[in-house]
Amino acid sequence: MTALLPNFVCGRWQSGTGAGTALLDPVLGTELVRVDATGLDLRSAFAFARRAGSAALQALTYAERAALLARVGQVLQTHRDAYDAIATANSGTVQSDSAVDIDGALFTLGQYARWGTALGSARALRDGEAVKLGKEPLFQSQHLQVPRPGLALFINAFNFPAWGLWEKAAPALLSGLAVVVKPATATAWLTQRMVQDVVDAGILPAGALSIVCGSSNGLLDALAPFDVLSFTGSADTAAVIRSHPSLARHAVRANIEADSLNSALLLPDATPGTPAFDLLVREVVREMTVKSGQKCTAIRRILVPAKVYGAAAEAIGAKLAKVSTGNPRNAGVRMGALVSRAQFEAVQQGLAQLAHATEVLHDGRTQALVDADPAVAACHQPVLLGARDADMAQAVHDVEVFGPVATLLPYRDLPHALALAQRGQGSLVASLYGDDAAALGSAALALAASHGRVHVVTPEVAQAHTGHGNVMPQSLHGGPGRAGGGAELGGLRALDFYHQRAAVQASPQVLAALGL
Ligand code: NAP
Repeated sequence: MTALLPNFVCGRWQSGTGAGTALLDPVLGTELVRVDATGLDLRSAFAFARRAGSAALQALTYAERAALLARVGQVLQTHRDAYDAIATANSGTVQSDSAVDIDGALFTLGQYARWGTALGSARALRDGEAVKLGKEPLFQSQHLQVPRPGLALFINAFNFPAWGLWEKAAPALLSGLAVVVKPATATAWLTQRMVQDVVDAGILPAGALSIVCGSSNGLLDALAPFDVLSFTGSADTAAVIRSHPSLARHAVRANIEADSLNSALLLPDATPGTPAFDLLVREVVREMTVKSGQKCTAIRRILVPAKVYGAAAEAIGAKLAKVSTGNPRNAGVRMGALVSRAQFEAVQQGLAQLAHATEVLHDGRTQALVDADPAVAACHQPVLLGARDADMAQAVHDVEVFGPVATLLPYRDLPHALALAQRGQGSLVASLYGDDAAALGSAALALAASHGRVHVVTPEVAQAHTGHGNVMPQSLHGGPGRAGGGAELGGLRALDFYHQRAAVQASPQVLAALGL
């Protein structure tokens, strides 16, 4: 039997009383560790997190909490090699893909530590200037943001076990809220190990960081009115969570990051041979293959002028043909595995759903896997699909294949292209490629209402741009509609979710005493 990873709640390590669920190596199929949450007293765990964790954090200033974040980052950095090994074994990722998750987590923590330091010795935040409530300035209204006296529960997706925890925990802890994380079962090991390292280092107050691995049963029932819930995962699970009685009854504040049919759009005048065309091709291939396409922000739909459909298919296909797929431990492998055999099946199903609406433009499945048994490994080669009638191919605008799959779509003119991008019904990100600043600016504005982020790539930013799918802590992450309607990151804007806005109506003398 493999080791059973303990949970950390009520300030102590507690193992579940069940047999546990096995976490597997998605390339070799071997069992690595087990997780289980059976028998945990979640109501007591949550009460302890609020009473001890949030209270202790909120006794500190923003700058003091920022210093804790910096120390957490240092501790995680010292164990980085161990995280890499766990990611290879449990997520099946090549080193550069593991780095997207692990280094992304460290970078985000570092940013919030810096931004938090600048907030100084306050314990609440000023929200705009005071306004007078009468003719004279004798009586005024000052809005402020105060940390919520609850906890932050994170229910996370399998694809970012490191970043998924810390991109949320950094603003939550900085805001003074205790964190309880429930990682997706398939890849819970890395999250659990990071929490263990931080707990062992004794940096955070008791109750400030808890982890529950395994089933989500009972987690939502234990939420109380001032808690916040941040969920990342599929739209189907999001729908179940939104309708949970705890959320309805207690108005628990929820942030939902769900799936998304993100697009890349080549502007009409960017013909083959132009730098913009090449930049689109490069970015599409990168987005399809980084983490085997298992990024919520990955490009799923590629919109190109109809006249360049063939040339784009050829250029993207030629680059994809060079991508070797297989065992991430083999130095010759560029793209590792999907996270599990179940995800492999889900990608197959997604491809079947798109089959009637598309043609196959590049099929990596004709290339053998490197150092991996196709009957066991969850490795899936890249597949580029195309739909010559983008309007009729409804499935392409509906079905998110969470793997190395994207669909090329021809458009007639720019309004048609923008309308197609909006057929995703709200996405996390769209990227634009071109060389005409005016046209790009107006296209970006047109897409902004239906996208959390618009990423514009022009030749002069070829080396400087941060990548279509890379989520930078400086920018908003989250999109409207189908993408879940969430809003994470975006610098200190992320703190809003963990704070309560209130207005204090008083004399200027009293307002001055608020210490803002
Ligand atoms: P998922 O199946 O929806 O699971 C997400 C999390 O919810 C897991 O921790 C899961 O636990 C938990 N869960 C499942 N059923 C639940 C329930 N009834 N109540 C409470 N929690 C429940 O999603 P996934 O397969 O892990 O992730 C892939 C999806 O996430 C993709 O569609 C992707 O687009 C999306 N995603 C979005 C973002 C974003 O930021 N927008 C980022 C990453 C991924 P178990 O693992 O134990 O089942």
